[in-house]
Order: sequence, then C-alpha cells, then structure tokens
Amino acid sequence: MSDRRSSLKLTDWETRLSVLAESELRRSLLAWYRQQGRTLPWRGESSDAYKIWISEIMLQQTQVKTVIPYYQRWLKRFPTVEVLAAADGQTVLKAWEGLGYYARGRNLHKAAQQILERYEGKFPDSLEAVLKLPGVGRTTAGGILSAAFNQPISILDGNVKRVLARLSALPIPTAKATNALWSLSDRLLDRANPRDFNQAIMDLGATVCTPKNPTCLLCPWQQQCQAYSQGLQSQLPMKEKAKPLPHKNIGVAVIRNERGHILIDRRLDEGLLGGLWEFPGGKIEENETVEECIKREILEELGIEIEVREHLITLDHAYTHFRITLNVHYCRYLGGEPQAIECQEIRWVTLDEIDQFPFPKANIRIIEALREQNLKSI
Ligand code: SF4
Repeated sequence: MSDRRSSLKLTDWETRLSVLAESELRRSLLAWYRQQGRTLPWRGESSDAYKIWISEIMLQQTQVKTVIPYYQRWLKRFPTVEVLAAADGQTVLKAWEGLGYYARGRNLHKAAQQILERYEGKFPDSLEAVLKLPGVGRTTAGGILSAAFNQPISILDGNVKRVLARLSALPIPTAKATNALWSLSDRLLDRANPRDFNQAIMDLGATVCTPKNPTCLLCPWQQQCQAYSQGLQSQLPMKEKAKPLPHKNIGVAVIRNERGHILIDRRLDEGLLGGLWEFPGGKIEENETVEECIKREILEELGIEIEVREHLITLDHAYTHFRITLNVHYCRYLGGEPQAIECQEIRWVTLDEIDQFPFPKANIRIIEALREQNLKSI
C-alpha cells in the first residue's frame, strides 16, 4: 500500500474514532481489572520504582511467564540499585543469561550507575530524566512512571497496540500508525487512575485480546469494539508482509588442549550478544567447507593452529533479524599463543568451570551436548 493511500485510510479512521465513548471504556476496563487483573510479583504495595523498572525492562520482548523466575532471582541477587551499580558486569550478564536481548542487562547496569551518580540512588520521577536512562524508551518510561508514581503517562507496547488496533479497526498495519496509536492511547488514559488503567490495558491484551483467538465474549470493550462488530478481530491488526529472515551458516570450534581444557572467548562489548562468552568460530564463506572455515576463523580470531576433528552438534537458532546454523566440531589445539584479536578476552576452562561464565542460549546447548558426550564416554 502506498504511503498516500495509508494516510487517506488513516484520516478516515481518525474520523470514525469520534464514536468511541472514552469514559465508558475507562469505567468498564477498570471494573474488569479489579475482578480479572493478573497478580504479578512487581505489582502491589511492596513494589518500588526500582522493582518496577527491572520488571519493565525484562518484559520488553519477553513474556511474563519467562520473566517471573528471572525477576525473582534478580531481586535476590541485586536487591537495590546500589547493589546493582556496584556489581561486576559479568555477574550482571550471568544473571541475565538465557533471557535474550543482552543489551537490556548491560543497560540496566549502566543505568544503575547513572542513578547512583546523578540522583543519589533514588529512581528519578520525571519523564525527561527517565528517558535519558540507557535502555528506556517512551513506552517503558510510561510503564514505570505510571506504575511507580501514578503519573498520567500513556504506554504503547505490543499488547496495547493490538488492543487499540482492534478496538478502532485500524485499517493499516500498526507500524504505519505509531503516532496515531500513541494519540489514541493518550486520549483513552484515565488521568484519575493512570496506574491501574495502563496495567489493565496490558492485562486485557495479554489475557483476553490475545494475538490468536481473542475471547471477545469476556471482553469489557466488546460493545464498543469496531473489530468485533465487523467480525474482523482475527484479521486485525493488519500485518506487513514478513520478509524471509537471512540465514548465516557458522563454523564453531570446541578447542581442547592436551589437559582437556576448552578455549572460550568473550565477545566485544558492543553489538549483538556483546560481553558474553562463546565458543570461537565464524561465518562459512562460499565454496568453503565447515572444516576449512573453522581452521581459518581460529587463525584469524585467535592466531592459533588447530586440527578440526569430529562433528559434535548442529544447531539452528533464530534472532530477530536473521537465523543461524551452528556447525560445531571438536578441535585439537596444535600450537601458537592464543590472542584476543577479535574479542575481549580468552580463557582455557574445564567443563566444570564453564558455568561461571555467561553464554548465549545457542552456546548453552553446545555445553549441554559436551556434557552428554562426556557422560557417554565415561
Ligand atoms: S472485543 Fe475482542 S477484539 Fe475487541 S478488544 Fe475485546 S477481545 Fe479485542
């Protein structure tokens, strides 16, 4: 659809929005929330801005049921902003291990240090200051400030976008209507009770107006919902055509020396999986075998000679913008002093020691495969 057609449809949609009765939407949603709202560990009287901030960052791109055990362990490990600020970066990444999108963990750590330096350890309560913290965008800031301080600041996370797109029968994909959806979220917000309103609309999206099979019969907004009245709830929000994800084939080395120690390296701090540990390797070039790739990458990355031995495991993993296949081989260290040429640090470790280091998910599956192989060979 051309941008011109999108904006014409949007203008028509904005005109139709006038039929929405905001006060009735607020009343019915808050009544539903009092009965059906979720009980979550970061809600309630004992929650302070620090705990709410941690939960909001963890909930970016991650579902509640995955977040809860991480959140609970995190608060035991880092109960206050001071403890988090003083922690070592590797300890923070280890606590984040398996949750994905690791920049979130690094940003929490940096932000805790800023809160200590700039605000004497007290979480800031102005939108301007919260937006300056690393890792905090507009919807996260609204989520924190409304939940922690009951400030009338709207939110627009994935759940809210879906609910609003259906409520108003948005005729274009949500990505093309961001400003219009922000205005709608702002218009509907209950300024007398922004904390509960924002929590309620998130709960509605998570439990009733779900991506597939929304349970419209239980929805407090059913009477005003334009998608429901037109029978469009399963077709909205409109989706943009998804492009196929590019795929990378990677050769990975589990290099062992004569003492049976394994070589691991720590990625540069910037970029995807920054600061995490991994088994070394790299992209297989055209017309290159896995074995040739591993040998070349290890020489380029670490400056050492190896012999590529038997295959350990092949793993597929998907990130947001690409997919990878890891072709993992055992390798024997032959010679040369390992150097951190394209990484921050390298270590020889035993399989028992390896758990002290934070690894990305796909590498944890390599460690599990190594343990299984070890058990088989006993
Ligand atoms: S009526 Fe259905 S589609 Fe509309 S907001 Fe409620 S659950 Fe979503």
